[in-house]
Amino acid sequence: MIRYQGTLYRPPSEAHSLILQATLGCSYNECTFCGMYRDRRFRVRPLAELEVEIEWLRTQVGEPVRKVFLADGDALVAKASFLRALLVRLRAAFPDLRRVSCYASPQSLQVRSVEEMRELKELGLTLYYLGIESGHDAVLTRLLKGVDAAEMIRVARKAGEAGVALSTMILLGAGGRELSLAHARESARVVNAIRPRFLSTLLMTPVEGTPLFEEARRGEYTPLDDLQATRELRELVAGLELEGTIFRSNHASNALPLEGTLPRDKPRLLAELDDVLGRPEPSAFVPRWLRGL
Ligand code: SF4
Repeated sequence: MIRYQGTLYRPPSEAHSLILQATLGCSYNECTFCGMYRDRRFRVRPLAELEVEIEWLRTQVGEPVRKVFLADGDALVAKASFLRALLVRLRAAFPDLRRVSCYASPQSLQVRSVEEMRELKELGLTLYYLGIESGHDAVLTRLLKGVDAAEMIRVARKAGEAGVALSTMILLGAGGRELSLAHARESARVVNAIRPRFLSTLLMTPVEGTPLFEEARRGEYTPLDDLQATRELRELVAGLELEGTIFRSNHASNALPLEGTLPRDKPRLLAELDDVLGRPEPSAFVPRWLRGL
């Protein structure tokens, strides 16, 4: 059987995927806002252990397995030979498998060569989730993301060159109140340069136990309220020049659930945002208590 270790995190769109913990934790684990893996040291799990789990799943899951998500934080950083062997086992066990995905930190994208990514893609690893968080250099520095905007673009394009789809995230509020609109504009610039298949926004919320939480407590970081976050989102959407990117702000943390394909739906998305921003007291926001905030 499978015993997941620690709290398991996965993107919302992997809700129906089979999840395999190929690695534990995040090899980087420095981002100031992230509390996901602070309780564990990074390690790659032995292939033999994973083979036992795959075999158990093969015999226990009663329906065809089409999607697998490789947890934890940045499974892509594991050696290409390990990932290759794992993908071969998954394909053998689940003949209906259509897609394997994982989180990819900028650091893991630095480590993997385009050739390795291409080869892994041929074996089924066709989608990476990349937290861009911000395209503003000062914000990225403050978040301790470990790369600046130019390096974020460079490593993300490696995935594109390998033919791997990217699902990217921007953190609304990452620049606090002072840098809100500049963060939105710079983030749009970086997203435009990367041209991801998917783009989503999350509202940055200080999580207890993280450096960001301490910054907020000391008054050095002030989260955005829903109206400010909506203004920032409008600035981001206005700056996007994309070709066939699916945009979503429907993560639980967002005040306003939006969805569309860019560029086709850009006028509608801006109109919806303007409508909310034009009301004296916006009532379109999902209540904070319903968002777990
Ligand atoms: S790279 Fe991702 S998982 Fe790792 S600390 Fe940063 S946000 Fe968290």
